[in-house]
Amino acid sequence: MEKVVEAVRRAESIVVSTGAGMSVESGIAPFRGENGLWSKFDPHEMASVTAFRSDPEKCWTLFKLQIEECFYAEPHQGYSAVVALEEHGLDAVITQNVDGLHQKAGSEKVLELHGTLNDLLCDSCGNQKKTEDLVDEILEKKIPRCECGTVMRPDVVLFGEPLPQRTLRRAWSAVENCSLLINIGTSAVVQPAASLPLTAKRSGAVIVEVNVEKTPLTPSMDHFLEGKAGDVLVELLERLES
Ligand code: NAD
Ligand code: ZN
Repeated sequence: MEKVVEAVRRAESIVVSTGAGMSVESGIAPFRGENGLWSKFDPHEMASVTAFRSDPEKCWTLFKLQIEECFYAEPHQGYSAVVALEEHGLDAVITQNVDGLHQKAGSEKVLELHGTLNDLLCDSCGNQKKTEDLVDEILEKKIPRCECGTVMRPDVVLFGEPLPQRTLRRAWSAVENCSLLINIGTSAVVQPAASLPLTAKRSGAVIVEVNVEKTPLTPSMDHFLEGKAGDVLVELLERLES
């Protein structure tokens, strides 16, 4: 921990990259593992672009559960620590999460690689709506439709879809230019998010991982902080500011 605190003090540009593990202490289950949604649903049947085209109503059983889980979740103290890192050189938060908790906590520089549950999108006419405006109906199992008649979807990246290219370009640029990358709560198996830390390292950055267990990326890390994201980030900030 002390070495990481020193690395934060020295860093000119910091990037934080987060996955589902960041939100576990806010009550949102990750996809993989025993309580994960993927142990209850087959992603290709429920969250792929082909599934949505052939049976949007069926996909909405999963979308509704995700919105229910994320919409009223509150960011834990680790999120506030990430906001506070902006005072110490944080230039970007790159997240695979779709729950919007970084923004809810007040982070300004968030790049959402997999989109967000907070917006709804019509694939036919491009119309967008705020999930917030329709959340009561959604939780009563009403499926949101666009004025053009099409079933809307959350503005998240479904299996089989490309990532948002502009966001991805900004993420690569932040990673290539950072001097410290902190990778938090991701199993490091989903590409391209999993290769962000290695790209940072190749560009000369120090890379740090925060996770409750080791991942395929751990051997490549300069430092591994084992523990829950919230606990580790709060401790990091306390030491940094003491
Ligand atoms: P993942 O489920 O594959 O991995 C979660 C990782 O977090 C694991 O390595 C696990 O060891 C670690 N972890 C668990 N609890 C932790 C804690 N308290 N503190 C620190 N680490 C902890 O998730 P992923 O790598 O993000 O990739 C899966 C995909 O799931 C992404 O595409 C993402 O969009 C999606 N997803 C998002 C949310 C969300 O928005 N909150 C939730 C579930 C899944
Ligand atoms: Zn429409």
